[in-house]
Amino acid sequence: MRYHNITKDDMLNGDGLRVVLWLAGCSHCCKECHNPITWDPEGGLLFDNAARQEIFGQLEKDYISGITFSGGDPLHPANGLEVRGLMSEIREKYPKKTIWLYTGDVWENIYGYSMMKYVDVVVDGEFMVDKKDAKLLWKGSANQRVIDVQKTLAQEDITVPVLYCGNYGESYKVTEIPENAGGCCN
Ligand code: SF4
Repeated sequence: MRYHNITKDDMLNGDGLRVVLWLAGCSHCCKECHNPITWDPEGGLLFDNAARQEIFGQLEKDYISGITFSGGDPLHPANGLEVRGLMSEIREKYPKKTIWLYTGDVWENIYGYSMMKYVDVVVDGEFMVDKKDAKLLWKGSANQRVIDVQKTLAQEDITVPVLYCGNYGESYKVTEIPENAGGCCN
């Protein structure tokens, strides 16, 4: 698995202050993607033990709410297994920290992935420039959904996602909508 960056104290890709892992590899090729440099799974840097420790160092801090996996696409075949392993380790070491995942894939294709048991929130779907709206909460285009994974998986029909928040944060605890929110999908 390879990555481009680990950003710290990030406020734009999930609740609170977060550490964000920007992975290499994406095959969605969304028109006007902001991060085409991340498409190549051979790009960036090897995700080694030093990178893992850098993330753990952030998660040790009380004021860090959790980790967001973005990219690129964390669910690209080059990443999936290692992302799952890292999530498992984080869930065990830091049970109070939240795990967010941005992917260009849609919930209907990924709800059966075993890693979902570790994930709190998924932002799903490709970035669609004709549905772009800078005021959307945590996402770049209106087709994407911010999904409460654990509430969804607790339902009888797990194929129907339970939304974590509305498009503009209706009934959501954050009242100020961050600009440029949206992780891998703009
Ligand atoms: S917007 Fe996200 S899912 Fe789409 S091509 Fe770019 S990195 Fe991939």
